[in-house]
Amino acid sequence: MSRLPLCLVIYVQLPTKSSLLLLIAALALLSPPVQSMPAEDVKAPPLHEKDFGNSIGIEFSKTAEFKKETQKAIDDAYAACKKYLKDKEKGTAKGIPAVVSDLDETLIDNRPHFEQTPTFSWPAFEAWIKKADAPLLPRTAEFLQWARKNGFAIFFITGRREGLRADTIANLIRRKVAYDGLLMRREGDRGGAEAVKVPLRQQVEKMGFTIVVNIGDQWSDLQGAHAQDCEKLPNKIYLVE
Ligand SMILES: [Mg+2]
Repeated sequence: MSRLPLCLVIYVQLPTKSSLLLLIAALALLSPPVQSMPAEDVKAPPLHEKDFGNSIGIEFSKTAEFKKETQKAIDDAYAACKKYLKDKEKGTAKGIPAVVSDLDETLIDNRPHFEQTPTFSWPAFEAWIKKADAPLLPRTAEFLQWARKNGFAIFFITGRREGLRADTIANLIRRKVAYDGLLMRREGDRGGAEAVKVPLRQQVEKMGFTIVVNIGDQWSDLQGAHAQDCEKLPNKIYLVE
């Protein structure tokens, strides 16, 4: 285990095939369940996903449990948006609605890179980002498309640094992602994810938007309030603090 710049922690333990299967089975029992929750209630659970490892995380992402956790978070995100729309009809919802979404492992699927490069390296990861060819996670992509068609602005808030903006936009264009804003980590800012992302959500609110849903694959995407509803997607490949 090694601590990497920008607080991204990647675990690259490579277990044997049989221990891998046992660990994946154990994950389903030990992992905290995905939760839908108001932003002020978001706290990282005591069980951190620190011991799970890169290869274990990729294998877990192919399981029915991963699909179930993803579907639950996405279903709850739809429900929160639909509730907002009903409240808007009744005149009780405020602001212009927005959805905030993280990018990596929330909308953008980097597993092709991690499968090829099991030992994490920032230069290799940035070279992958610069290819601008990552696929999308389909459930999130469908939800964001639905939300935008139903009147929600879509803001991406990512820990990727500003210097990767053009490559990130190129990837989103290539995958035909429609959105309204891309807020990124300031170049040289080495703060933790929560410290970077909370002020960016405040920036969205200051523009006049109400953040109805904030969705991400890391607890640090969701902590620190400034959203009505938070949805945690599963990710056991890496932990961002
Ligand atoms: Mg992410």
